Amino acid sequence: MDRYEVVIVGGAAVGSAAAYFLAAHPQFAGELLVLEQDFSYQRCATTLSVASVRHQFSTPENIRMSMFGTEFIARLGEHLTVDGQAPDVGWHEAGYLFLATQAGLPQLQANHRTQRELGAQVQLLDPDPLRQRFPWLRCDDLAGASLGHRGEGWLDAYALMMALRRKATSLGAQYRQARVAQLLRSGRQVQGVVLDDGTHIGCGTLINAAGSGATALAHSAGIELPVQPRKRCVFHVRSPALTPGCPLVIDPSGVYFRPEGTGWLCGVAPPEGQDPPCEDFEVQHALFDERIWPVLAARVDGFEALRVMRAWAGHYDVNLLDHNMILGAHPDIDNLLFANGFSGHGLQHAPAVGRALSELVVHGVYRSLDLSRLGWARVLRQEPLREINVV
Ligand SMILES: Cc1cc2nc3c(=O)[nH]c(=O)nc-3n(C[C@H](O)[C@H](O)[C@H](O)COP(=O)(O)OP(=O)(O)OC[C@H]3O[C@@H](n4cnc5c(N)ncnc54)[C@H](O)[C@@H]3O)c2cc1C
Repeated sequence: MDRYEVVIVGGAAVGSAAAYFLAAHPQFAGELLVLEQDFSYQRCATTLSVASVRHQFSTPENIRMSMFGTEFIARLGEHLTVDGQAPDVGWHEAGYLFLATQAGLPQLQANHRTQRELGAQVQLLDPDPLRQRFPWLRCDDLAGASLGHRGEGWLDAYALMMALRRKATSLGAQYRQARVAQLLRSGRQVQGVVLDDGTHIGCGTLINAAGSGATALAHSAGIELPVQPRKRCVFHVRSPALTPGCPLVIDPSGVYFRPEGTGWLCGVAPPEGQDPPCEDFEVQHALFDERIWPVLAARVDGFEALRVMRAWAGHYDVNLLDHNMILGAHPDIDNLLFANGFSGHGLQHAPAVGRALSELVVHGVYRSLDLSRLGWARVLRQEPLREINVV
């Protein structure tokens, strides 16, 4: 039986970030294998994401992880250059703009205080300065907004994932296309994995970075991970409207939009009672007609004439407890590290999570950023660490 010091299941953004940080760690010299079921990456959340980065969260750890993500992107050449070629991930530092009605203002202000305390460059705007800054935005129902000045924007998620993978490979990580059918557990240890074709592979540590496939893997080791896939649809639209300087805008209704090429991407989460676990990738077109279009047509001059050019559906791996990730070991198993339940913000957190996982493998504790509040303890106690700014 082949045996590796570390086996990572799932080789998209999070798995590849973990592979890169481990392979680059000066104190890690072991063999590292990444098992990924689909090298086309067509259906993973990473490829289907809106690929945006914000510092405007309510949970301090999320803010700090995004800030590290921004730093990492700014110095991508230093981290991920291979054979003299620095990756280009198309970083657009255009900010996020959270809009609030009177009812939403206290929460916006509370989040703002937390973000400022942690050094995020965000600014609260009253309606008048908001109108002056974005004359194409209709603000009559708004009481204020929060704008990110530095470090927020969007990029090419696939390019980032492939750059992490390429660099990890150049440092010795091995990638194999194979589906893990189950984990092999004996007492407090995961001994390895069984692949679909029956092959057994042994490991010293196993990292579960399987996105919405993580729950089934955990179950095969006797752990119930409270993470379920939820469908999120993205619409690429065009219109004659002009929105110079447009950030990623979050309407008080939850509808968001941001520029993409000569058009915009937009979407919204379905209402809570209409958001079941999903397996298919069918686009919910009614969401655009009934929930997104009316909001956008009322919010931006010229958006009445929006036309959908294309649309897709992806799966959020949602932590049902509190919309925050579950990171690290379960108390019943010593060598199985989880990195799951990102609930729609895992791409921007992938660099910080990759670094954190490498620290857990090498040192057994977090060294740079303490993410222990995001571990299993709160899940098992059913004490949510709720992220309020979920998009
Ligand atoms: C529509 C949409 C919009 C989003 N927008 C944003 C955004 O703007 N900003 C942001 O930060 N995040 C966003 N996200 C969330 C983000 O994409 C995810 O949190 C992040 O990509 C998770 O990365 P991952 O590597 O954990 O999971 P994934 O990208 O889903 O990768 C998991 C990988 O594991 C593999 N796998 C699964 N099971 C097995 C198995 N048994 N054996 C082998 N391989 C397996 C899969 O093939 C897959 O490649 C969005 C997500 C969606 C769906």
